[in-house]
Amino acid sequence: MRDDRNCQWRVAARPVGNVKPTDFTYTEEDIPKPGDGEFLLKTIYLGLAPVMRMYMQGTGAAGERPLEIGDVIHGRGVAEVIESRNPDFRVGEVVQGQCGWQTYKVSRGTPQERFFKCRDYGLPYALSAGVLGMTGLSAWAGFIERGSPKSGDLVVVSGAAGGVGSIVVQMARILGCRVIGIAGGPEKCAFIREIGCEHAIDYKNEDVAARIAALCPAGMDMYFDNVGGEILAASMEHLAFGARVILCGSISEYTRKEPFGLVNYARLRAVDASMHGFFVYNHVENFHRCTDQLAEWINAGKLNPIQDMEQGFERMPDALASLYSGRNVGVQCCRVRQEPDGRPADWRECIKGA
Ligand code: NAP
Repeated sequence: MRDDRNCQWRVAARPVGNVKPTDFTYTEEDIPKPGDGEFLLKTIYLGLAPVMRMYMQGTGAAGERPLEIGDVIHGRGVAEVIESRNPDFRVGEVVQGQCGWQTYKVSRGTPQERFFKCRDYGLPYALSAGVLGMTGLSAWAGFIERGSPKSGDLVVVSGAAGGVGSIVVQMARILGCRVIGIAGGPEKCAFIREIGCEHAIDYKNEDVAARIAALCPAGMDMYFDNVGGEILAASMEHLAFGARVILCGSISEYTRKEPFGLVNYARLRAVDASMHGFFVYNHVENFHRCTDQLAEWINAGKLNPIQDMEQGFERMPDALASLYSGRNVGVQCCRVRQEPDGRPADWRECIKGA
C-alpha cells in the first residue's frame, strides 16, 4: 500500500456464495483535499462485518446507499484527522465511522457517516474498530437493551465465537447468567468455553436440536441469534416461560438462494415468549454509554476484547471472506497503519495476529 496515494477497494462483481478475489478491484487515486467545512481522514483500522457482502450485492442494506459496480465498498473504521476545515473535527483527533474501504477520506461529518470521536480509555484505538465500535454496540443493544438479562438466566448464543457473539457471551457471564454457546468446530468450541460458556455445541459436528434439548431441560431464558436458519428453529423448541429471542443476524441465510421460512414461530405463544429484532444504528444515542461500560470491563480484566486482526489493507477482501468461511475468531478487523501515537501494546496480546 502506498502512503502517498488513496488506495481503495471497489466492487467488481456481485458476489455469488462467499466473496472471491474477482469480486473486488483495487484502485489508487490522489489523496483528496478538504474543502470548506470538510476534513481529511487517514485510515488506521477498518472493521469487517457480514453486511458488507450485501453492500456488494447492491442492496440498500443497513441504511447505506446501494453500491454500483465500481463504487468504493462501505465500511466503518478508525481514522485520524490530518487536515481540517471543519471546526468540529480537529487535527490529531481519532474518530470512528464510515471511512469506506480506502486509506484516506474527505468528509463533512454527515449524520449518515456517523463519526464518533474515540474516547481515550488507555486502550489501543484498534478496539474502536470492533469491540469499542459498532460490533460492541450491536452486542450491547441486542443483549442488554432488547434482551433484558437477569442474573441466573440461561442464555444460548449462536455465532458465539464471532464478533458480536464473543462479546455477548462475556457480558452474560459478567451479569451472572449461565451461557451455552454454539459455534463451528472443536477449536471454536474450546475457545467459547474459555471465555465463559458452561457448554459448547459444535453445530458442524453435533445434532444441535438434540444437544439443546439435553442441555436446556427447563428451556432457555434467552436465545441470542446471530445465525438464523435451522439453529434458530431448533432453539425455538426449547424456550422457558417468558423467554426472549433476540434477532441480531442470520448469517447462515445470507448466501442462500431462497429465504429460510421459520415455521415454528408459534412456539412463542405457548410460553409467553417474545421475539425482538434490533438494528444497531437505532441505538447510536447509547454509543458512548456502551463503550464506557465495555472499556471499564476491559480495563478491570472482566472482558477480553477479542479481535482477529488482518495485517495490511491489501488483505481486506480475504478478511471479508473469513466471516463466511468461519475463519475469524472475535471481531474481524484489518490494520491499515500503526497506532497514531505509538501506544503500548498491552491489550493487543488478546488480539489474535497482533
Ligand atoms: P461474526 O459472528 O464474526 O461472523 C462470522 C461468523 O459467523 C463466522 O466466524 C462463523 O462462525 C459464523 N458463520 C458463518 N457462516 C455460518 C453459517 N452458515 N452457519 C452458522 N454460522 C456461520 O460477525 P459479526 O459481525 O459479529 O455479526 C454476527 C451476526 O450479527 C451476523 O449475522 C451479522 O449480520 C449480525 N449483525 C447484526 C447487527 C444488527 O444491527 N442487528 C449488527 C451487527 C451484526 P462459525 O465458525 O462458528 O461457523
